[in-house]
Amino acid sequence: MTKVRETMDENEDFEIEQTSMTDDVEAAHEDGVAKAPPLEAVLSPLLFEVVQLSEARTFTLARHEWRVGNYRLLEEPSGVCVCTKTGLIHLYEIYNVKTGATLEPIGSECIKMFGEDRMLEEAAQLRELVQLQKIAVDRVPLDLKGHFSKRVLAGLFLHGAFQPCYANGYDAERDYEFLLGQFNKRSKPALEEIRRVDAILRRGNNSVRAWLLRRAEEYGDSIEAPFLEKGGAA
Ligand SMILES: [Zn+2]
Repeated sequence: MTKVRETMDENEDFEIEQTSMTDDVEAAHEDGVAKAPPLEAVLSPLLFEVVQLSEARTFTLARHEWRVGNYRLLEEPSGVCVCTKTGLIHLYEIYNVKTGATLEPIGSECIKMFGEDRMLEEAAQLRELVQLQKIAVDRVPLDLKGHFSKRVLAGLFLHGAFQPCYANGYDAERDYEFLLGQFNKRSKPALEEIRRVDAILRRGNNSVRAWLLRRAEEYGDSIEAPFLEKGGAA
């Protein structure tokens, strides 16, 4: 009898203890929610800003909404990123395709932080186009193998650098495809091919060189992404 009583007592004690433990857990949980750090404390100021301007509510999802909309090359390393990093020479503006929000200036390192290959590619293409423009402005004869890349050739086409004319049958894409073929070619080009490359790159008002010089005159060392130029965003 005494033994049973003891067991009951033990059980009662155990129950009481369990109840108080549950209370503690609940209290701790409530406490934890109350103390959960706000988003701006978890993310860097730039990433927080990115999420604020996005449709998605986490950076992991929000980063997919952004594209590189604009690039500017500074003469001096005097640029300051939204993240406060200083001494920048390459500055970008990023564009949210869902909300239409823009954020600038953003440095190259912060573009990388998005972890989006598409954004890196867009940034590199705009940067290479401005570099090519500087070569033309410096009066260096444009050299297909020396100054171009597949990326910059595609960028030139997207930006409308190739003009429809008699020589390409009024189809500018043919010039792009021809140059790409010549760029990839490992064997020595025929004389006719050399002449055509020369014409597309360097001769007259329809040439890539003329286009680069015209845009340098109009826009300086900055360039907008083709998807914005054509109003094709959103
Ligand atoms: Zn930055």
